[in-house]
Amino acid sequence: MGNPRGFLEVERKEAGYRPIHDRIHDFGEVEQTLNSNDRRLQASRCMDCGVPFCHWACPLGNKPPEWNDALYRGDWQLAYELLTETNDFPEFTGRICPALCEKACVLNLMEHEPTTNREDEAAIIEHAFGEDYVKPHVPERNGKKVAVVGAGPAGLTAATRLNQKGYTVTVYDAREDAGGLLRYGIPNFKLIKSIIDRRLNLLREEGIIFEFGVKLVDSKKKSADDKGEIAANIQNDPTLGKDKTVTIDKLSADYDAVVVATGTPTARDLKIPGRDLKGVYFALEMLSQQNRKLAGQEFSRDELVNAKGKNVLVIGGGDTGSDCIGTAHRQGAKSVTQIEIMPKPPVGPDDPKNPWPNWPRTLKTTSSHEEGCVRRWNINSLEFLGKDGKLTGVKVQEITWVPNPEGGRPLMKPAKDPEIIPAEMVLLAMGFLRPQQPQFPANVFVAGDAASGASLVVRAMASGKEVAEKVDKLLK
Ligand code: FAD
Repeated sequence: MGNPRGFLEVERKEAGYRPIHDRIHDFGEVEQTLNSNDRRLQASRCMDCGVPFCHWACPLGNKPPEWNDALYRGDWQLAYELLTETNDFPEFTGRICPALCEKACVLNLMEHEPTTNREDEAAIIEHAFGEDYVKPHVPERNGKKVAVVGAGPAGLTAATRLNQKGYTVTVYDAREDAGGLLRYGIPNFKLIKSIIDRRLNLLREEGIIFEFGVKLVDSKKKSADDKGEIAANIQNDPTLGKDKTVTIDKLSADYDAVVVATGTPTARDLKIPGRDLKGVYFALEMLSQQNRKLAGQEFSRDELVNAKGKNVLVIGGGDTGSDCIGTAHRQGAKSVTQIEIMPKPPVGPDDPKNPWPNWPRTLKTTSSHEEGCVRRWNINSLEFLGKDGKLTGVKVQEITWVPNPEGGRPLMKPAKDPEIIPAEMVLLAMGFLRPQQPQFPANVFVAGDAASGASLVVRAMASGKEVAEKVDKLLK
């Protein structure tokens, strides 16, 4: 370690967000950057801890002590080389990863704040692009072909790794562009889409072929409108392309191996009375449309999902809900409320009910929450209320969770009389259903959310990496 006492001498410093009054009016990234001197000082806080749990906590096996040391010494290029040994797209994880490595940082055990690995990662890759040493690497071809279906982080990682091993890789996606939820879910204020385009240009130069507007459907079904087993996974997403279809049987016949990385596109619904009222949307209907609008796509008045002037109720207390809050603010919502059926999580590591190592599961306050939002927990939704077919409010009830006398999950009990939250727009952000994949032929592998259920970008990438190894092993 360049400075083994760094963590004693330097406090954790985050770059922080742009001021609310500035960022709330646009969809530009909210996060700022530190100057390079401060960044190196932050890297110096990564101590020689001997047993770096961060390696183990990162699904990709990233090695922050190694690249933080290079960064502290000012060797940005070495830091880049060490970082990209394990992580193919640090520009994505550096922006939006919840940084499991930081939660596992040994400094937490010593009542210090953890290192700033996520921000360090973003700084290293942006410096690398800025200095122009991120170059395409075109591998020698080995004569074998692999198809990857789904151009989200899992599919892109699998494609990158397989391409570098010499396979000729074609990536198919039902949508008109690559990125999956990075492009059509995560708002620009967290990840600006030019970052994805920059990477795609490199992947193309490296020889990966992309085919968009091609939807994978069940082999027994003849058209994209038929609800085959795979097609059923995308039924909640009207934005997926319908032009061309392809079946697993066809891909299996045409390619030496196939990777299915189609994500978890079926959002959990809330089937209570009034669900059909105009004004009740899935979170992704809004998020995806907003990202498309920013990319220049036009929508008719009828199609628009716009929070302007509305009381917005977000149902679901997770990250997707938080992205809806930030988007509603930027669209000009009158008020934003977020309700969650589960109890309020502990506030932080000092909460006596929340000792380490549980503490990472604490109340999360995102940049979107900071921008203004009423947050409530233990709230069950009973009915969507409306007039003339349009949503006017939601009947909800505060509940409490009691132990189940028969064991298993706790039971919900009403704690107060029902009440009405006025709302002209509801966004359902209650998670995604686990995809049910059909029985695939032996040369087909499943990666990312399609395999695990809804998870994280870093896990999807790790899965893509693992599947690439398996494909390589099979084909060798
Ligand atoms: P996806 O990203 O879903 O990509 C799947 C791809 O497959 C898509 O491009 C889709 O068009 C394509 N596809 C689907 N069906 C078919 C078909 N039948 N034929 C052809 N193509 C098909 N994770 C984080 O780590 N940090 C965050 O901040 C974060 N924020 C999130 C915000 C939102 C709103 C959401 C919804 C998720 C967020 N996540 C976040 C989770 C993360 O985005 C996912 O875990 C990750 O994108 C999964 O990657 P994937 O490649 O498996 O699938």
